[in-house]
Amino acid sequence: MLQQTQVKTVIPYFKKFTRKYKTLESLSKANETQILKMWEGLGYYRRARNLLASVKLLVKELNSNLPNTLKEIKKLPGVGDYTANALMGFIHNYPTIALDGNVKRVFTRYLNKKESKIDFDQLIDSNKKNLFITNRNSDFVEALMEFGALICKPKDPKCSQCCLNKSCSYFKSSNKIKDNKRKKIKVMNYNIFCYVSKKKQIALTKENEIKFLKNFNLPLIKEVENNSVDKNWKFLKNYKNSISNLSLNINLYYKFSNKIPKSYNWYSLEKNKEFIPSFTKRIFNQVSSLF
Ligand code: SF4
Repeated sequence: MLQQTQVKTVIPYFKKFTRKYKTLESLSKANETQILKMWEGLGYYRRARNLLASVKLLVKELNSNLPNTLKEIKKLPGVGDYTANALMGFIHNYPTIALDGNVKRVFTRYLNKKESKIDFDQLIDSNKKNLFITNRNSDFVEALMEFGALICKPKDPKCSQCCLNKSCSYFKSSNKIKDNKRKKIKVMNYNIFCYVSKKKQIALTKENEIKFLKNFNLPLIKEVENNSVDKNWKFLKNYKNSISNLSLNINLYYKFSNKIPKSYNWYSLEKNKEFIPSFTKRIFNQVSSLF
């Protein structure tokens, strides 16, 4: 849940989720629709799908035990280097480092070297004796991440309070490395066409070509070079929607209609039992202004 998402946003979701699913077994019996409904509003829904797929696999094939090698853990859906190392540390107390953005920043600053100039695997491997000096490996994994988030922060690191400042090259250097540039934002233009009924309903389909919202319910959506006007539909609004490093420039169109194409179904603009992604909910809000 915490990937790409702030702790304060996650807390209510985490509490609700762990109240409902107290064990791996209970979670493994859930279906995707139930999990997505609980995840509604948190975004990055692939995480929820991967979590469920991993838990089902763990329960059915591995007797609810997490594998104890990095290679085996990485076979779980959605688990890459970072998550595998974090799990090896947290669950198996394995001496390792989970290299998230915070931890990488600590290393780059401490060495006063650009991230692109550091081979992190090699660095960790050749400094094992200095890095893994505790039996509390699980705490060490967490501590490094927290250190990056709270002390060696992206902006204004707390160098004067830092326990590493005597040996930190960044602190001592008069020629400090510049922090990594933010990811480039890619702007994309979309036209979205909504069939709307007088009963405050909107027609949605799962058949859309948008990669980051694959298999989710959406109105008709088309990527366009620039948001040209479409005369067969009524223009409602232009708005921006950001998803990860994408900035979506959206022109929203509508038409009142009782007839909808085959793959579409009607959904209430107010309340739905079914999971509706935040992207679609935003469209609901705009279309609701018609009533
Ligand atoms: S001294 Fe400053 S730059 Fe160096 S590790 Fe500590 S907080 Fe980061």
